[in-house]
Amino acid sequence: MRQNNSVSREEKAKQIIARGEFSYNDDGTMTIRGYLVTGTSCECMDFNIRGVTCKHLIAYNMLKAEELQAINYMKLSQAHEFVKIYGEKTLDSLKAMGEVVEEHNHLIWL
Ligand SMILES: [Zn+2]
Repeated sequence: MRQNNSVSREEKAKQIIARGEFSYNDDGTMTIRGYLVTGTSCECMDFNIRGVTCKHLIAYNMLKAEELQAINYMKLSQAHEFVKIYGEKTLDSLKAMGEVVEEHNHLIWL
């Protein structure tokens, strides 16, 4: 049998988002279909018993990525200037998403 679990979980995550079955909590966590989800954990069985990246975590990461893309950040060319305004975490996330490449403190926007 082909291993296509990750594909179907992504589809389920998209459905959760499309149905609006999530809410933001004040501490940066989310409640997704009744489960408390942080960036690294979820309360559901899939995550805690089966030890897989569950659809709730996938949905969480999709929502966070969207949130980040919604920020109308200035496309500064100097990395240290960008970090001063938006923080290192934002820059790391943008790098991870393939939005920007850093070379010798110079930012190249893709
Ligand atoms: Zn979960």
